[in-house]
Amino acid sequence: MRYVEFPSAELKVSRISFGAIPIRARTNEGAREVIHEALDSGINFFDTARGYDDSESKLGYALRQRRNEVILASKTAKRSREEAWDELKTSLSQMKTDYIDLYQLHNVRTDEAYEEVMGSGGALQALKEAREQGLIRYIGITSHDEEISIRAIRSGEFVSIMVPLNFMEDDFADEVLPAARQHDIAVINMKPFAGGMIEHAALALPYVLSFDAITVTIPGMRTQKEVRENVQFASHCGNLPSKKVRKLQQLKEEIGSEFCRSCDYCQPCPNEVEISRVLRAMRGVRRLGASWLEDNLDRIEKNVDACDECETCLPRCPYDLDIPLLLREQVRALRQHAGEQK
Ligand code: SF4
Ligand code: SF4
Repeated sequence: MRYVEFPSAELKVSRISFGAIPIRARTNEGAREVIHEALDSGINFFDTARGYDDSESKLGYALRQRRNEVILASKTAKRSREEAWDELKTSLSQMKTDYIDLYQLHNVRTDEAYEEVMGSGGALQALKEAREQGLIRYIGITSHDEEISIRAIRSGEFVSIMVPLNFMEDDFADEVLPAARQHDIAVINMKPFAGGMIEHAALALPYVLSFDAITVTIPGMRTQKEVRENVQFASHCGNLPSKKVRKLQQLKEEIGSEFCRSCDYCQPCPNEVEISRVLRAMRGVRRLGASWLEDNLDRIEKNVDACDECETCLPRCPYDLDIPLLLREQVRALRQHAGEQK
């Protein structure tokens, strides 16, 4: 395992680290096993967020006797000082810890949100107060927007920026990575698998780790097998297998940038539409074939029928996807696919 220091913080992290969204789907005991597998494989940096359901409490449960072995990171998506303080206190109690190593402003992607968190009475104020009180050690920020990322990097307020970058979407490599490097800001890479679109760790991880400016990547890990594979492939930074690269390039051209990354930031939907499940259905078809579609088409159609185009989800999607439109297009494509199979 290779460890890298943040350029402007006393944090030395394993270059491949642990994204804790998927442990939501595990029991406490199941999550503990995955987290311990990661720890025993040399992973020492664990990233979660207030918004990831019970992920924080599962980390707290798993790490209750191993807190001093890890660097813990979490996030708040709240924008005001008061709300951010409330969330931080909840994070501390859920993770059963006296301090969090890195607390981040989560998903700041519009000018309005940026100005709110950075301004007087904004969430950054709470984080600075908490840092003075020793409740957090360092402050970071996460964003899906390049311009906001650069503003944050230049502000001098953060030790790290978390951004998406992977084989399918590498826009952040052009300006954000060089800016981070110039200002000594650590880059935490989210979504190295493009939200599951890239299925092979052997492709995804060597690709992102080939960028020297990426300090650490945090693929989500749900099983011990995934931990072992990720750790194994993170050390293979050589050439990517050309046949698989060609396949990925083809997929990249086919889907462009309009695809769902399964982050579920768009939830909750007032009509309980399982948005990411529907938008990712073609992946199920590709992987599991016609029988998967036969078993799932009815449920997908019911989901799409339940969408009344209220648009509640639209401002929540960090990728600005036109969700109602994509839902309808998806069900149309699936019906066509099912028809062709008959
Ligand atoms: S537009 Fe459709 S999917 Fe989006 S929140 Fe409204 S009902 Fe749910
Ligand atoms: S539609 Fe957007 S917000 Fe919802 S899961 Fe997909 S990428 Fe995430």
